[in-house]
Amino acid sequence: MKVAIDGPAGSGKSTVAKAIAKRCGLTLLDTGAMYRSAALACLKRGVALDDAETVAAVAREIKISFVPGEDRQTVLLDGEDVTDAIRTPEIDKAVTPVSANPAVREAMVLQQRAIGEQGDVVAEGRDIGTVVFPDAEVKVFLTADPAARALRRAVQRDGGDAAKDATATADQSAVAEIMADLIRRDEADSTRAASPLKPAEDAVHIDSSDKTVDEVVGLIVKMMEEAR
Ligand code: C5P
Repeated sequence: MKVAIDGPAGSGKSTVAKAIAKRCGLTLLDTGAMYRSAALACLKRGVALDDAETVAAVAREIKISFVPGEDRQTVLLDGEDVTDAIRTPEIDKAVTPVSANPAVREAMVLQQRAIGEQGDVVAEGRDIGTVVFPDAEVKVFLTADPAARALRRAVQRDGGDAAKDATATADQSAVAEIMADLIRRDEADSTRAASPLKPAEDAVHIDSSDKTVDEVVGLIVKMMEEAR
C-alpha cells in the first residue's frame, strides 16, 4: 500500500505521516528532508545554488538515508546525522532553488521510488500523488490556514507541540516571521515549472486547521481500510 500526503509547508503532513507509519507499520518517507539534505550538501560544498548543473551533480552524488527511531527518524547525509541541521531558517531558504531544479527532482524521485519498491510506504511532500507515486491507493492533500500553520511551526521550534496542546502559544514576532516564510515557500513551490505543489486530481482534500492530529489520522486510516 502507498499512502501519498501532499500539501503546503506546516500543514501537519510530517506529524500525520509519522503517526500513520507508526500505527499501521508503514515505512515513513519524508521527501522534504531529502530536498533539505541536498540543499545542505550544496551549502557545505560552497556550491552556488544558481549553478544548476553543479547542484544537480551534488544531488546525484549524495546518499540520503533514514534510520527509524521511537520518537523521530534520523536523517543521514553520506552517513552523517543531519536531522537538526536541515531544519534551520538558512535551509528553509536554500531549499527553494534546489527543489525547483528539474535534474535534482529527477535524482530525488529515483531514490524515492526505490524506497517505495521495498514495501508499504507513507510518503509526504509536494508531488507524491502527482509524480512520485501517481498510482498510490490513498492520496491526501492536506491544508491548513497560514496562521494555524505558522503557530504550529513556532511552537515546534520552542520544543512544544501545538497539535497536542491546544493552548500552546508562541512569541508573536516569531509567528509573523515564520508565516512570511511559509507564504514565500508556498508561492515558490506552487508556481515553479518542475512538479509544482498541486493536488492530484483524485486526492482527498483535508483541512487540518480545526482538527487534531488524531482526527486527521483517523480519516486517513479509514481511507486506507476502504482501499484494501
Ligand atoms: O516538507 P518540507 O517543508 O520539509 O519541504 C522543504 C522544501 O522541499 C519545500 O518547501 C519544497 O520546496 C521542497 N519539496 C519539494 N517536493 C517534495 C518535498 C519537498 O519540492 N516532495
